[in-house]
Amino acid sequence: MSYQVLARKWRPRIFSELVGQEHVVRALSNALDNDRLHHAYLFTGTRGVGKTTLARIFAKSLNCEHGVGSTPCGQCSTCREIDEGRFVDLLEVDAASRTKVDQTRELLENVPYAPVRGRYKVYLIDEVHMFSDSSFNALLKTLEEPPPHVKFLLATTDPQKVPVTVLSRCLQFNLKRLPLEQIQGHLQHILEKEGIEHEVPALVLLSRSADGSMRDALSLMDQSIAFGGGQVMEAEVRAMLGAIAQDRVHDLLYALADFDADRVMALVHELAEMVPDFSGALQDLLALLHRVALAQVVPDALDNSAGDEQQVRDLAGRLSAEDVQLFYQIGLMGQRDLPLAPDPRAGFEMVLLRMLAFRPADSGGAVAESTRPKPQAKAEPARPAPQQRRPVPAAPAKVQATVESPPAVGEEAPAPAPAVRTGNVDLSDWMQVVEAMSLGGVAKQLANNCTFESWDGSNLKLKLDPTHQHMKVGTSEQRLIKALSDYLNTPVKLSIDVAASETATPAQLQAKAKADRQRDAETVMTEDPLVQAMEEQLGARLIPESIRPVEE
Ligand SMILES: [Zn+2]
Repeated sequence: MSYQVLARKWRPRIFSELVGQEHVVRALSNALDNDRLHHAYLFTGTRGVGKTTLARIFAKSLNCEHGVGSTPCGQCSTCREIDEGRFVDLLEVDAASRTKVDQTRELLENVPYAPVRGRYKVYLIDEVHMFSDSSFNALLKTLEEPPPHVKFLLATTDPQKVPVTVLSRCLQFNLKRLPLEQIQGHLQHILEKEGIEHEVPALVLLSRSADGSMRDALSLMDQSIAFGGGQVMEAEVRAMLGAIAQDRVHDLLYALADFDADRVMALVHELAEMVPDFSGALQDLLALLHRVALAQVVPDALDNSAGDEQQVRDLAGRLSAEDVQLFYQIGLMGQRDLPLAPDPRAGFEMVLLRMLAFRPADSGGAVAESTRPKPQAKAEPARPAPQQRRPVPAAPAKVQATVESPPAVGEEAPAPAPAVRTGNVDLSDWMQVVEAMSLGGVAKQLANNCTFESWDGSNLKLKLDPTHQHMKVGTSEQRLIKALSDYLNTPVKLSIDVAASETATPAQLQAKAKADRQRDAETVMTEDPLVQAMEEQLGARLIPESIRPVEE
């Protein structure tokens, strides 16, 4: 068996074999099964998404000897002849090579004649937008008064160039680019059926290169089978596509995360010696950054389809979310500018250097440390032990977690350091007392929203802010009493009145302090020269809500 025929062998012959385009298949199947057929259809969409395949199946459905319907038999001579491309009543025209008026006229002059063998004469006109004006006029005349035995199936990658008068006489279906997973799944299905050895990362590479086109994916797969001596392996596919090894891209991002300019340049040098496809390398870096961002924000959404889940999670822990976004933005712009660079390598290097230059971190105090964004605790997944060749940065400040206070309801706050027993605790400094007691969850929230009223040595009176009276429940009160008794070393009788107070509660004081810190942080960021430079040179925009002061 020749491997080169896989793409043709696996060409879908019935609607149910077609991958993707479910919306179009459903509409066409319903029309066929319910005998509600239009006389002209226009399939739009980029190359290789199944326009002509769909049209051929449709032609079979119309002419199958076993009747019109969405499931042509595939066995009768009509079905077989259409599959083999030699059915007399299916007239396939490639408008790209048939733009002359005469030829189109000749083609359309035959429209009035009845089909030779089939029920319908089917005109399949591919790339119809390439028609000349006079060809369109000839087509339009036919579409205005179509004979009942004729169906037009038009396909185009560029519907904008098709005259509105023609468009308005067609039922239009837009075929979508196929998602990577769908292409990958189909390739895997075929390889398994054919018993061909393969590696999943190789299929990911092929699918990505196919860029939404199943036809391209299949022909690339055929090539890779020939190239790989009968199997589809990652290394061979990489070599064939001129793609750089995945590891190199990871190494590059590790070096960027470590702010190691020497290593970044050394890696570029290595890349240049292997495969100098720097545009592809930049694309790979962007794809990796996308996955890292995904791992940071929606950890569950990350799958191991590219076989590097562990490394992506590791990188997600090393890079701050802001850095990932910044690198991505710089990379995207770099991709646009790459063709303008003196040479691709220089362009690629500049993109990486820009990532290092604009990174708002450890850059000689360009940004005040207190305003430096840091990753939230939840964004940091478990990290494996760092490998020798990927040293942890000397100052691992990047992964320092910050803990919000007060904690969310239900969470246990970490126990504060044991307070020094002085014997004469000042209960009127209620905020201090709340901080010093070992309290968590709702009990701490309750205490935080109270103010001190009076204390006579055994009876403590507090006032609870009425907006938080739902916190005054038995369990939280009991826990507060126990914490107070432990803290004061004496049994405490507690009474809490729900009433507004003149003095501010600890929660209110904290909120005010937080707002002050936020305002300070925003001021520092707005006035920061680096931020201003980014606004001017990169068109960046500061989003005030995204600024977070570092919690002490
Ligand atoms: Zn048939």
